Amino acid sequence: MFEQRTIRGEVVFDGRGLHSGKSARLRALPAPQNTGILFVRTDLEGHTIPARCRYLEATRLSTTLSHNGIQVGTVEHILAAIAGVGIDNVRLELDGPEVPILDGSALPFVEALLETGLHRQESRRQFLTVLKPVSVTEGDKRLVIFPSNDLRITYAIDFPHPTIGYQEREFQVSTQVFAEEIAPARTFCLYREVEEMRRQGLALGGDLDNAVVVGDDGVLAGSLRFRDEFVRHKILDLVGDLCLLGRPVRGHLVAFKGGHRLHAALVHRLLETPDAWTLSAGRESLPRQLVRSFDHLKACVLPGQALTA
Ligand SMILES: [Zn+2]
Repeated sequence: MFEQRTIRGEVVFDGRGLHSGKSARLRALPAPQNTGILFVRTDLEGHTIPARCRYLEATRLSTTLSHNGIQVGTVEHILAAIAGVGIDNVRLELDGPEVPILDGSALPFVEALLETGLHRQESRRQFLTVLKPVSVTEGDKRLVIFPSNDLRITYAIDFPHPTIGYQEREFQVSTQVFAEEIAPARTFCLYREVEEMRRQGLALGGDLDNAVVVGDDGVLAGSLRFRDEFVRHKILDLVGDLCLLGRPVRGHLVAFKGGHRLHAALVHRLLETPDAWTLSAGRESLPRQLVRSFDHLKACVLPGQALTA
């Protein structure tokens, strides 16, 4: 896990963008070490946009990257898949404005990337290891990252809808956990919000095959993949948005009612707080005492945990 990785061969995904409704082909290709993750708009003279937070443009219901007026939309699920299976370097060629939504989860990306296989490269990875807590809030939404020796995510959502309600989940994000427990969780929305989103030119490519749509009486069409698929998808989105740090993260994220905008705010805040983290090869461990010393604070982030703390 200490060397960088790319993919062994090309992987192709065809589909429609969730928000634009436009068809596109995404080709994932191996890339040299220390390249990082690059999006390349092959329909616009190969204009290249690195998956880094300085290119982050919008976070309205999805994460969009932009450079010199050229965009790549809904990058979060392919980025989550790339980070989740442990790929550092990859070239993502796209012939349209938005990454195909496929089934609304990261599973088709993960399966194809793992099937083509990973190639270990010579250069070492550099992990961003968190040394002290960094937090962002927005109303009653909050997201905090604490020191940890691995990537751990605790997430809670509280939707005023009986099918969703309060859901809380924690994972230590290994490749296996990501592939089995997080990647299959699909994006979701409330049926009563669909019309408003479409009026705003969003969700034009959305349908019951690429999103879990929740009506007044429950999920429309089909069944959930997990009872708590909703909070798992929030974790998936966070794994994808963290990619914009440009390095794998060692930290424990605790989120309450987050979303893309809060995720992006934390990425920015973290990069603006250089004494809160260090770059390292990931072999060393933080002292157990340091990691444990924040347990009482973690318990305060989620309302459910505060009651028992
Ligand atoms: Zn998502």
